[in-house]
Amino acid sequence: MGIGAMDRFEGAPKEMDPRYIFPEAKVIIGLAFRIPRGYLRGIEEGTHFYQYPAMGYSSINEVYAPVVLRELACFLEDNGYEGVVIRNTGARMVCSDVTGSYEESLEFGRRIRYSEPVAPDRPAPDVMPHFRIAAFICGLGEIGYSKLFLTPEFGPRQRFAFMLTDTPLEPDPLFDGEICDRCMQCVKDCPVGAISATETVKVTVAGRELEWGRLAEWQCFHGYVGSVKETNPFLPRDAFDKLPDGDKILNGKKELSPDEVLQVWKILHQYYDYAAGYGSAICGGRGCLRACMVHLEETGKLTRTFERPFRTRKPWRL
Ligand code: SF4
Ligand code: SF4
Repeated sequence: MGIGAMDRFEGAPKEMDPRYIFPEAKVIIGLAFRIPRGYLRGIEEGTHFYQYPAMGYSSINEVYAPVVLRELACFLEDNGYEGVVIRNTGARMVCSDVTGSYEESLEFGRRIRYSEPVAPDRPAPDVMPHFRIAAFICGLGEIGYSKLFLTPEFGPRQRFAFMLTDTPLEPDPLFDGEICDRCMQCVKDCPVGAISATETVKVTVAGRELEWGRLAEWQCFHGYVGSVKETNPFLPRDAFDKLPDGDKILNGKKELSPDEVLQVWKILHQYYDYAAGYGSAICGGRGCLRACMVHLEETGKLTRTFERPFRTRKPWRL
């Protein structure tokens, strides 16, 4: 966990500024929930895909983190302070959680269809902080080139939840180390080429310039739910035959528009639909999570170490 000062959000878009959720908050507490490395083993071997989306994704966000948030909120309350919970919902924001756009009106945008400000000085609900920037504000680590958040303990292996509170706590300093060394393994191993090797995004947070590779979010989305045959054993080879450029989609060689992603998503759901709500996370973070983790472990960048390396066999590809 880490504690961030609220004024570090200065300059954030109003719809992502948690000071509008709890104006009296003195700090934001960031909680990082580890994804145990063994949750990724089945996908790494290509023989068991269920546990990572279920245990490493939905269970952390929907079960474990909410329980911890509740305990913490009650603890703060027992001491006379308010604890405002912000869990990872991936939904119901005034701007799209996928792209940050205010304009999208997609069938599967996971954004609310309409909301308006309740007063002239407030943004329309639901305000939702940018989780990775909030984690940076709490001093937990850095945003890697992949745009995944990296901590010195677990590298890319965690999910976040946050608590706003009026408890007078001392903020932690911003993270001063350097974890990502721009090795570009995340770019190379992403099945759909969602992370640009050349284009980057820069933002200034709390006086620091942060930079990561441009992520094509909808491209990541369809790769993550398993549109690429080489990395998805549940996908028949003729699955996209009826789509224009179906072979290119199957090979991860085409950048899809949001509407095309929706078409792909519907086809995929004819073949599998487990870990409901998480689209199955079939790619298992092949580039941004696993390749990055392997690299950071091999180069001794992480403080949590293992008796055995994670990767001892060549990664499978169909
Ligand atoms: S794989 Fe390499 S470049 Fe990508 S985020 Fe990890 S350390 Fe950075
Ligand atoms: S989740 Fe998968 S598709 Fe998305 S960037 Fe990471 S490796 Fe690429």
